[in-house]
Amino acid sequence: MNTTEECNLNGNLCESSILTILNFKNLDNEEKANVSVENFSWITLRGIGQMFYIINPEDTTFKEYNQVPHFFRDAWPYFLLFMFLENIILWINRKPVYRLNDGITSLSHGLIQETGRLIFRGAESYAYMYIYENFRLVDLPWNYPLTWYLAAIGVDFCYYWLHRACHEVHILWAQHQVHHSSEEFNMAVGLRQSLLQGWCGFIFYLPLAVAVPPAHFITHQQFNLLYQFWIHTKAVKTLGPLEFIFNTPNHHRVHHGSNLYCLDKNYGGVLIVWDRIFGTFAKEQKDEEIIYGLVFNQPSFNPFYLQTFYTVYVVEKCKSMKTWKDKLAAIFYGPSWQPGRPRLGAEKDKIKVMPRKIYDIKLPFWCNFYLFVHFCFVIYLFQELATRYMGMNPISVMGFACYIIGSLTTIGMLFDNKPYACIFELLRCMLLVFATQRMEFPEDVNKTSMSLFTIFFFLSGLFWFLQSIRVLQLTTNRKVQFK
Ligand SMILES: [Zn+2]
Ligand SMILES: [Zn+2]
Repeated sequence: MNTTEECNLNGNLCESSILTILNFKNLDNEEKANVSVENFSWITLRGIGQMFYIINPEDTTFKEYNQVPHFFRDAWPYFLLFMFLENIILWINRKPVYRLNDGITSLSHGLIQETGRLIFRGAESYAYMYIYENFRLVDLPWNYPLTWYLAAIGVDFCYYWLHRACHEVHILWAQHQVHHSSEEFNMAVGLRQSLLQGWCGFIFYLPLAVAVPPAHFITHQQFNLLYQFWIHTKAVKTLGPLEFIFNTPNHHRVHHGSNLYCLDKNYGGVLIVWDRIFGTFAKEQKDEEIIYGLVFNQPSFNPFYLQTFYTVYVVEKCKSMKTWKDKLAAIFYGPSWQPGRPRLGAEKDKIKVMPRKIYDIKLPFWCNFYLFVHFCFVIYLFQELATRYMGMNPISVMGFACYIIGSLTTIGMLFDNKPYACIFELLRCMLLVFATQRMEFPEDVNKTSMSLFTIFFFLSGLFWFLQSIRVLQLTTNRKVQFK
């Protein structure tokens, strides 16, 4: 759906995002007339408000689920703006700013998840719609403010149980661990998600379908996730009395810690009251530095590996069990469960993580610059796919998506300085050159930009060809840092 289509309660234009402005040249004259300087400021302010769940219910109430804008996908400019501001604050306070390898890995996971959403086209929400259509118990009026608030609280309550299950059920943790795999804690980590996270979670929202209209559910699910982006930061210390009700950076730092007191605590999405009610709340301890990342951290910047390695581990643990009961327990009990122990494992078996080496590999400046430029190109490619995929056939969407995920994987392998990464990069560059020469592209694709991209990728491929036959030597200082 066009973001400027008439669709919400007031019949106002759904200028839900700054993307409306960025796509200005593609708008028709009537739409252009609506995008004035005042509108731009208003749209930007409204977009920033959305990041904090500060929204007008009237502007975000929709009758049909297919009228709901892509609030989350359209928020990427705000994600980038917030991360930029976070780095400025850290820099002013003389704290460490983002590491390029870790930051790009986090954003790569975000892009992989969004690419997955384009492939699945929201199919996981069909069960919700089916239940609502056939088994709903009450007919809440779609344009009634109480319905909007009920949906907001209901979605957050279900998120608490979904998140708790992701930490207490091994096969769900296999996906959710992606979000905990960074040894840093910054807003980019907020975007570090599993490709299959949506499929892990949809069952937990189904009870809402007996009352909450699908459009409200889809709207609030997006705002709930948007809110959870900015709480991933060390730049905000405390929010005073708000800490009692809302999930804040302070509470979420505890959730991401691998210290014993942090494990399996503070699951809340927007509200922290659920943790206080159900006994999973823990306060940040000032005398103990939080160690971020998994208990057994993986030394890798390869997003494909980080997305998949744990599922392999769950399968291996299951195969190693002797009885069927234990095999099922290995899949559905907690990650630390062992035979003969309680469902969530024994306290005495839990590992006390001590301050440890942070995984880091130093690459030369030119290599980091190269990877940064190519990563920006992948973002551009994703943006093209996101705006065109509805008019494309599923095979082309899949091909496009695989190229994006493959590109992010190769970039991760280069950050890891893997021996064969240069050969994969050579193949990736040549594939794009081949595609631009052989494939037919829509009329509106800019031919000059296409030629420039082709030349850039050809030169990149040539460089990695020389590198792979050892004509050039990429020298790196493999260095693991102590924090
Ligand atoms: Zn978690
Ligand atoms: Zn988090």
